[in-house]
Amino acid sequence: MTEGTLFGTGATPRSGVGTVVWYSPDADLPDPDEATADPEAERRRFEDARETARSELEAERERTAERVGDQEAEVFDAHLQFLADPQIEDGVEGALEDGLPAEHAVKRAFADPIEQFEGMDGRTAERADDLRDVRDRLVRILVGGDRVDLGDLPEGAVVLAERLTPSDTAQLDPDRVAGFATATGGRTSHAAIFARSLALPAVVGVGDDLHDVEEGATVVVDGEDGELVVEPSGERREAARETHDVEIREEAVTTADGAEIEVAANVGQPAELEGAKARGADGVGLYRTEFLFLDRETPPDEDEQYETYLEALETFPDGRVVVRTLDIGGDKQIPYLELPEEENPFLGERGIRRSLGPDADLFETQLRALLRAAADGDGRLAVMFPLVATPEELTAALETVDAVADALEEEGVDYAIPELGVMIETPGAVFTAPELAERVDFLSIGTNDLTQYVMAAARENERVAELRDPRHPAVLRAVARAVEAAHEHDAWIGMCGEMAGDPELTELLVGLGLDELSMSAVTVPDVKAAVEAIHTDEAAELASAALEATTSVQVTERIESTTPDQ
Ligand code: PEP
Ligand code: MG
Repeated sequence: MTEGTLFGTGATPRSGVGTVVWYSPDADLPDPDEATADPEAERRRFEDARETARSELEAERERTAERVGDQEAEVFDAHLQFLADPQIEDGVEGALEDGLPAEHAVKRAFADPIEQFEGMDGRTAERADDLRDVRDRLVRILVGGDRVDLGDLPEGAVVLAERLTPSDTAQLDPDRVAGFATATGGRTSHAAIFARSLALPAVVGVGDDLHDVEEGATVVVDGEDGELVVEPSGERREAARETHDVEIREEAVTTADGAEIEVAANVGQPAELEGAKARGADGVGLYRTEFLFLDRETPPDEDEQYETYLEALETFPDGRVVVRTLDIGGDKQIPYLELPEEENPFLGERGIRRSLGPDADLFETQLRALLRAAADGDGRLAVMFPLVATPEELTAALETVDAVADALEEEGVDYAIPELGVMIETPGAVFTAPELAERVDFLSIGTNDLTQYVMAAARENERVAELRDPRHPAVLRAVARAVEAAHEHDAWIGMCGEMAGDPELTELLVGLGLDELSMSAVTVPDVKAAVEAIHTDEAAELASAALEATTSVQVTERIESTTPDQ
């Protein structure tokens, strides 16, 4: 391919321009018949390769901990565990006994475990990438393949690959690499998550056409629109470069006429906290705690959770940290909790429904950890409940908080009641917002779910993607209704769905009356800049015009005709 645009999924709302470097880690295997298959000698080769792999992994672990963070470096612990896994070791032993050379024995021993993980749901399936990573490392060492050093790429390289494993991505130096694009992967693949935490431009899931892009070509990686532009025009290159230079505003911002708008970050892991702070977030507006429950065999216990919440409070001692209680079900599965198979999981046992039902024990444990952290932490803790559809659910959740507080009191354990809030993600919550708001300190609008339920267009169904537009007046009117209910009852109201991180919509959202906007950390600087350019009277006018519109197109036209100069 000499020029043109390929489409995939944008992983980070950043663009970069650079020169293609192809990364193909697969080492060629010699023909098994040509290799000597002396089981004893092959066993020694395997043992030596395993030892080398172990030292490489330990070195990469250290490098990643320094460059990215301890949490990201933990992926190498998983790799070290796979390297010593008894099932794989037995598989290799069996294949060696069958007379296979070591590299083929490794391939065979990993095949079944990789297939098992691939058959699982969601993020667990991505463990197959970790296994492939370990397998390919061993094979490369055994066949003496050259090591492609991703940690030492030329300045301005754009890495293209079929897939990038966690350890591949962790080696990329964001100060040298301009971005990456992969043929496989989705927004929640490890590679995409790493890209976001490093603010590295990335497009994943481009498909087989990616292989037509030649080494040395100039490309723009547009992680916002999910485009890879081969041999871009001068204008497109400049636009990609410009997005790099965003000013970080560490202090809280106000609109041009002095209204305070809190701009916070959404996080799912402790490792994302520092990045959020570095990008100027005032606090955490959504801590998706279900991510603390993934990629492990058992749930984190009370003490582990307590430490995790304290860490968030310590990172933002002057800000607020809003922790959402466990929100699983729908597209978020946790294998060891054995969620039921449902015909329509997005309309099934999700979020607070599980916490008040089958996961009541987990809910209590989480609340105990949160109430303890609220007493002991430096900053301001807030706790909110996901996917509430009725005031009765809120009553039951608040009663559980009271019961947990009573139990801690009785045990003589220090605790405090944090600010309490409800997510507005369902039409039920929108229509009962006054009854919800009068009993809590705040509301937070989850537009990802709210849009799917208002428009009846499932979050993951590409066939109805056009309907799932948060700019649609139907969604905006739901937002306006929730804002009105909150303010009438002296509750503050934020937004933590993806909509909040779109700087083009900041003026509209401020005009609708939101007090706080929370987003993926990478867009915090852009939204803070957008807030500073806003005049609240103009924003209110824009909001009224948008609420009177009847189509998304009209809303967009109104936004475009009033966008302030920045
Ligand atoms: C939302 O639904 O907008 C939200 C923030 O929650 P999640 O994306 O985690 O479902
Ligand atoms: Mg949601």
